[in-house]
Amino acid sequence: MEERWLVGVDIGGTTIKLAFISLQGDIIYSWEIDTDICNKGKHIPASIARSIDQKLNELNQTKNRLIGIGIGAPGPVNAEDGSVEVAVNLGWENFPLKDILEQETSLSVVVENDANIAAIGERWKGAGKGANNLICVTLGTGVGGGIVVNGEVVHGVNGAGGEIGHITSVPKNGLLCNCGKSGCLETVASATGIVRLAREELSSTSNFSQLREHQTITAKLIVDAANEGDKLAKRVIQQVAHHLGLALANLANGLNPEKVIVGGGVSRAGDTLLEPLKEEFKSFAFPRVAQGVEIVTAALSNNAGVIGGAWLTKKRHMSI
Ligand code: ZN
Repeated sequence: MEERWLVGVDIGGTTIKLAFISLQGDIIYSWEIDTDICNKGKHIPASIARSIDQKLNELNQTKNRLIGIGIGAPGPVNAEDGSVEVAVNLGWENFPLKDILEQETSLSVVVENDANIAAIGERWKGAGKGANNLICVTLGTGVGGGIVVNGEVVHGVNGAGGEIGHITSVPKNGLLCNCGKSGCLETVASATGIVRLAREELSSTSNFSQLREHQTITAKLIVDAANEGDKLAKRVIQQVAHHLGLALANLANGLNPEKVIVGGGVSRAGDTLLEPLKEEFKSFAFPRVAQGVEIVTAALSNNAGVIGGAWLTKKRHMSI
């Protein structure tokens, strides 16, 4: 009999990533569709189901080949019934994703928060391979996080476990965060946070910087400039490393993880971010915690979510 496939799905605000994945965690086919957010996102499950059918047709396969679906959603998930409590970008509120997608596809569905599912993916096939205790932080438009303790993702009492982006990093006069409080890590370590730090540096300094030549400053521009040795950009990255190092060290002091994985667009700064981050982390971490941990960049980039989804399905069906 032919080997069966796992389905991994990762819902984002603009695109949905889908993949058929082998039981070993290798991507067999992956593709993307646009996220249909009209009518408060209610067509999203149907569009996922249709796209899976189309891909099976294209490949001359039947649904029997598929074991089940593991799906990541951008919001807190109710672990009991697989509903998404709220996903602002999609227009969802108490959205019964598991139930609807199971009806639409006749496959079993496991729902998980998108940052958690990325952490699971990195643990299975990426930078966290085999680590039973890890912290995964994603520096993108926002700052997402997933925490694995003793091999299990931490959900907490109402699904908000692992919200690393909302650790308070600027306790006094911090900027307002999307979550409603002020001074969150996200306000200084996300792509938008980094751009703001760069603007502050630019207005308070007369030093020459290649950033000055650009009308629009983006996080990518700052990361590239820092990699090329631009002093101002490097100072911005140093500030990010400071806030991130402090937050992660405090968290690590409570968890004693084996790996800290840094992903997302900002992590493309590579050693320019990682080296100062390691220094900052070390200065704030309990010495034995610092000795036990390895701080690394994520390995799966955009595929971490679909691979994590596949692992959840495998776990559900193979009782691993
Ligand atoms: Zn916040």
